Amino acid sequence: MDRPAGTERGQVRKAQPAAAGEKGVKRKCGICRQPAKYYSPVAAWCSHEHGAELAKRLRDKAIAKKAKKEKQETRIRKQSLKPRSKLLAEAQSAFNAYIRARDASLPCISCGVTTAAQWDAGHYRSVGAASHLRFNEDNVHKQCSRPCNKDKSGNLIEYRKGLVARIGVARVEALENDSRTLRLSVEDIQAIKAKYKQMTRELQHEADRL
Ligand SMILES: [Zn+2]
Ligand SMILES: [Zn+2]
Repeated sequence: MDRPAGTERGQVRKAQPAAAGEKGVKRKCGICRQPAKYYSPVAAWCSHEHGAELAKRLRDKAIAKKAKKEKQETRIRKQSLKPRSKLLAEAQSAFNAYIRARDASLPCISCGVTTAAQWDAGHYRSVGAASHLRFNEDNVHKQCSRPCNKDKSGNLIEYRKGLVARIGVARVEALENDSRTLRLSVEDIQAIKAKYKQMTRELQHEADRL
C-alpha cells in the first residue's frame, strides 16, 4: 500500500482528477516534483518507490525532531534542578556584603550609632513585601543588627528620615511608589551575584590603599 509510515490508515486517498491539495493546487511528488498520484494530509507522491522514500524521509525527520525536543527538555530540567532559592540567597549575601562595604564609614541609617556588635544590610522596603527591590541600592543600607534591624523590624520611621537625609526625598518617594514586578532568571541572579562580589572586591582594594 502506498502509504508513508506514520500516516493514519484512512487518511490516504488515491488522487482524483480534482485531487488537488488546498486551494485547488495540484500536488506534486515530494521526491521528484512530478504530479502526485497519491497523497495524504502531510505528503504526496507519484509512485510506490517515491512513496517509500518519502515515508523514510518523513520518519527520519520526525525522529530527529523528537531527539532535539528531548535534548531541549533535558537541558531545561537540569537548569530547574539548580536550587534557585540557594542561588538567590547567595546573591543576596553578595549584595548585602557590598552594601556594608559601601557604607563602612557611615553610621546606622536609622539610629545613627557608629559602633555595633553586628552590622546588617537593612532593607527599607522588605524583601518579603517588595522582593523586586531586594537588590536595589537605594533600598538597602548599613543598619545596626540590634536593636534597629532585628528588634525594631527595621526601625522604619527613623529609617525613612535617615534615607531622606542620604538620598533625598525624591528618590525615597520613587522607592515607595515602585510597584513593578521583577522576575529574575537564574542567569540574572548569577550575574547579580558576580557583579556585587566584584564591586565589593574593588571597594576593599580602595580601602586597603588608603
Ligand atoms: Zn516521484
Ligand atoms: Zn540602629
